[in-house]
Amino acid sequence: MKRWGLTPVINAAGTMTSLGASRVAPEVRAAVDDVLGRFVRIDELHALANRTIRKATGAEAGYVTSSSSAAITLACAAALTGDDLDAIEALPFAKCETRVAVMMSHMVNYGGSVPQAIAASGAEVVPLGTAALCETYHLEAAIRDGLAAAVYVVSHHTVREGELPMDLFIAICNSHGVPVIVDMASEYDLTGAVALGADAVIWSGHKFLGGPTSGIVAGRARMIHAMVLQNRGLGRLMKAGKEAIVGAVAALEAWGKRDHAAEAAREAAIADGWIADLAGLQGVTARRHGDWTGNPITRVRLKLDAEAGLYAWELASRAMSGNPAVALRDDLSMHQLIFLDPCNVTAEEAPVVSARIREICEAARAKGDGLKRSWSEEKAARGQAATPWIGDDA
Ligand SMILES: *Cc1c(COP(=O)(O)O)cnc(C)c1O
Repeated sequence: MKRWGLTPVINAAGTMTSLGASRVAPEVRAAVDDVLGRFVRIDELHALANRTIRKATGAEAGYVTSSSSAAITLACAAALTGDDLDAIEALPFAKCETRVAVMMSHMVNYGGSVPQAIAASGAEVVPLGTAALCETYHLEAAIRDGLAAAVYVVSHHTVREGELPMDLFIAICNSHGVPVIVDMASEYDLTGAVALGADAVIWSGHKFLGGPTSGIVAGRARMIHAMVLQNRGLGRLMKAGKEAIVGAVAALEAWGKRDHAAEAAREAAIADGWIADLAGLQGVTARRHGDWTGNPITRVRLKLDAEAGLYAWELASRAMSGNPAVALRDDLSMHQLIFLDPCNVTAEEAPVVSARIREICEAARAKGDGLKRSWSEEKAARGQAATPWIGDDA
């Protein structure tokens, strides 16, 4: 990447699309490289993906999309049209029931918006409950008024306080014949939601699985078949090419063979190394932190107090503007919290992360320039900078 002058990035933030998602495993890269130089029968690739996903998830059928976002849209489209080719080609204009329910607490933004991904199919989004409370009667009332499908999201972004648990949500929908689409793009569990009876379960191939950009869907054969048929309609707009399909298959195979206990131990050792490196850093408390949704990831939680000499968002933005850029997880920085994620960090990179944090904190304390911009000022500035034009050399 040197020849294009790209800034090298050490990723201690996690699997983020904005950083290139994950480090694709060597065996997956080899498979993608191989298929990129050939022609294939794409229906054979889809059949291969179907077999591989079935085996990995226990579902009746599986399908690869271009991303989880696309999978949400296409699963909703499938629920609207079934296998009616005329209806598929007419989307996003549907003649049938178009209401798709989702708990208000699940209407989150993962970098894109869940309700937008639903609505892009032509569905009408029906919010259930309020921001931090959904009861069974909210779902039952929506079902009484008519639903084409219901969407359930598992993510650290959702408000879990007061939500309907997944098993209950699926059971109610199943008992009324309403298809359930589960978006758990970032969750390691490949079998739980399928076993509960979800009609379509969605993961990103490019997150923990370490594949190229892709979406993996497992579910009931009827639903998956109707999703495949969307290739004649909306699916074409979000096509998964041979590299995505082969990459997702190879990533699932590699995931099945990986020594997960050894990987968890490797990550925990990096986390403990960071805690040791940062011990005694003034105003910064570092401790282990379990994953928000129960994935087997040990992160380090940094809490900054006034003694630190800088706000958490300043630490993250200064780390990111260096060379190499060091990406820290800053989505809770308004609470003066920073998280360090070891998943995508190598043994060589790990000490660079803690050394950079120490260096930035010490420099800010010496200069006294780390507490100038309040969170409100930072937030306002981010709103302005949210859509930077890429032609910065104009
Ligand atoms: C990352 C994520 C998505 C989007 O996944 P892509 O494959 O990048 O489109 C959707 N939902 C949740 C919960 C996510 O974490």
